[in-house]
Amino acid sequence: MQITTAVPHIGALDAPEAAPDDRLVEAARETIIAIGEDPGREGLARTPERVARSWRFLTQGYQTDLDELVNSAIFDEKCGEIVAVKNIRFFSMCEHHMLPFFGICHVGYIPNGRVIGLSKIPRIVDMFARRLQIQERLTQQIAAALNQVLNPRGVAIVMEAHHLCMMMRGVEKESSLTLTSEMTGAFRENRKTREEFLGLAGMRIIP
Ligand SMILES: [Zn+2]
Repeated sequence: MQITTAVPHIGALDAPEAAPDDRLVEAARETIIAIGEDPGREGLARTPERVARSWRFLTQGYQTDLDELVNSAIFDEKCGEIVAVKNIRFFSMCEHHMLPFFGICHVGYIPNGRVIGLSKIPRIVDMFARRLQIQERLTQQIAAALNQVLNPRGVAIVMEAHHLCMMMRGVEKESSLTLTSEMTGAFRENRKTREEFLGLAGMRIIP
C-alpha cells in the first residue's frame, strides 16, 4: 500500500511563511467579513496573515512524505517483543467542522526483523494528524504507515481525544473522550497480545 498526500501542494516545504497573496489570507479575510466583523479594525488588521500561517502549520502533514520522514531510520533487529510508545500528544483538525481535536496516542508494534527509530513514531502520528481528519481514519492511517515501512508482525494504535466541535458547540459534552483503536496482525489475532499492549498503554481492560 502506498501512502501519498491527498491534496496538491500549497507552497513549498517552508510552509509557515505564507505569501501575502495567499488564498488562505483571502479566505480568512472573507470569513471576518461574513461573520459581520470589520477586517479594517486595528486588532484584526493582520489577522488574515496570522490565520494563513497558522493553517499552513496545522495542515503541514499534506507536505510530508513518509519515505522522506522515515529516511534511513529502519534497523535490522531480532527483537520479537512488543515495542510501544505511549502518551504521544497530537493535535488535529476535524474535517466536518474545521475545529481542533486533540489528545494522546499509544502506538505499539511487534518487529518482524526490523525496528524503526523511536523518535520517528511521533513524527508519523504528526504527519497524519496535521491534516483535516476524522479520528477513525487518523488511527487507521498511522497503523497503515507502520505496516508499510516495517511489515511488522502486528500494529496496535489507541487514540483518546477531545473534540472541540463537541465541546464548544452542538451537544456541548465538554468532558467526553473519544476512543479509537486499530489492531492488525498478532494484536488482532491474539487476545493476550492485544491485552498486553493495552496494559502497557495503561488502558483499563474490561473483561
Ligand atoms: Zn467535528
